[in-house]
Amino acid sequence: MKHPQATRAAALSRLAEFTANMGHNYAHKRNFDYGPEADTEKDPWRDNVSKLSPYVRHKLLTEHELLAAAVKAHGAQGADKFVSEVLWRGYFKGWLEQRPEVWADYVNDRDARFKQLKAQGGLRKGYEQAIEGRTGIDAFDHWVKELVDTGYLHNHARMWFASIWIFTLKLPWELGADFFLQHLLDGDAASNSLSWRWVGGLHTKGKTYLATKENIAQFTGSRFAAIGLAAEAKPLEEDRNYKLRPLKIPPAPPAAAAFALLVHDEDCHPESLELPQKPSLIIGVSGPDGKSPKGVSEKVRTFAEGAVSDAVTRGADHFGCEKVMWNKGEKLSAILASAKLERLLSPWLPVGPLKDAIGKEINGNNARWVMRDYDAAIWPLATKGFFPVKKKAPDALRSLGMAL
Ligand SMILES: Cc1cc2nc3c(=O)[nH]c(=O)nc-3n(C[C@H](O)[C@H](O)[C@H](O)COP(=O)(O)OP(=O)(O)OC[C@H]3O[C@@H](n4cnc5c(N)ncnc54)[C@H](O)[C@@H]3O)c2cc1C
Repeated sequence: MKHPQATRAAALSRLAEFTANMGHNYAHKRNFDYGPEADTEKDPWRDNVSKLSPYVRHKLLTEHELLAAAVKAHGAQGADKFVSEVLWRGYFKGWLEQRPEVWADYVNDRDARFKQLKAQGGLRKGYEQAIEGRTGIDAFDHWVKELVDTGYLHNHARMWFASIWIFTLKLPWELGADFFLQHLLDGDAASNSLSWRWVGGLHTKGKTYLATKENIAQFTGSRFAAIGLAAEAKPLEEDRNYKLRPLKIPPAPPAAAAFALLVHDEDCHPESLELPQKPSLIIGVSGPDGKSPKGVSEKVRTFAEGAVSDAVTRGADHFGCEKVMWNKGEKLSAILASAKLERLLSPWLPVGPLKDAIGKEINGNNARWVMRDYDAAIWPLATKGFFPVKKKAPDALRSLGMAL
């Protein structure tokens, strides 16, 4: 399998390659997981799904760009299925952004589960067998290896994996979500934790996803026997009800004195941010290790750091300004002071581990937040389920010149 390069150039190249497949091909074949074995020397990318997610997750490519390419090539109707999947990402981002306690509770519960592992030998054994791919369930063990080796799993494989983890192996969902965040190049607080909650019956209360050997065989070209899967998926329960906290869209920062622009690994396309004027300095920061108390794999770290480094270099060239990295242990205020700058602008930092790690320090430097029009249009729609978002998206995005 070809490992994606963490650059915008590589993202654009993959986008150009896949655009022809975003219509009929995607609608009919997206659910099939042919596995990395289907990659050939001639075509190292399976052509039924885009594998653009590591780029989209770091905003080396924006969702706006993805949708525009799909609709231009296939028309709104022809691209409908692809458009829906891209909107799922915005739905999850907006949903979590408006219920930040879901993420905070996940972090606390995950840490408590790791403590439990230390105290309970049986649980620890089951967890170790799962993350080392030694469960004896061929499909699951294969996906563990594929995830660790490539940093990617097909969406259907992620659903089967999470279902087997929760309902067959009876392991805590938080530890499965954590394992994904350690290894997925696209590991994202919202899409990941909410998808795990969805499979377990916590997101859409009482509605679970059950992996069956027949379904796995049908969509994997009968590559696996998948013997011994749970026959039922009883919803997980929690005695919490999360309150919706409607999103407050920050006003566009006014034109004023010189400023520094922060570039972080949640937004690696500074050229397309709506800024009042050119920045005088670009400050780059990445913090992928905060995704898990166990840290992230070398592949995940390299991708996130590479994406920021690419963005900082591009941004400095584009704006004709200086650049500097904000390294661990350094004070942001000291970087600003040495550049004699008092103003800081930052692309929105969504709910998640990077915000937990550096959000306060950025705020402490009187930062103004820049939210993308696309996010400001889609995220507030995520008040309940996905389908109202899908329905309202064409209206919400029309003012951005997009005809869905
Ligand atoms: C348990 C579980 C965990 C997941 N964890 C993550 C995660 O950490 N990060 C992440 O980006 N996605 C996650 N997903 C969603 C989805 O599996 C991936 O976005 C998708 O598989 C990425 O592959 P692709 O780029 O080839 O997708 P394509 O099918 O080509 O889709 C195009 C783009 O649409 C978006 N997209 C597609 N499907 C979904 C979806 N179901 N939810 C949200 N966005 C979607 C992605 O940005 C993707 O790049 C998870 C799904 C499950 C079931």
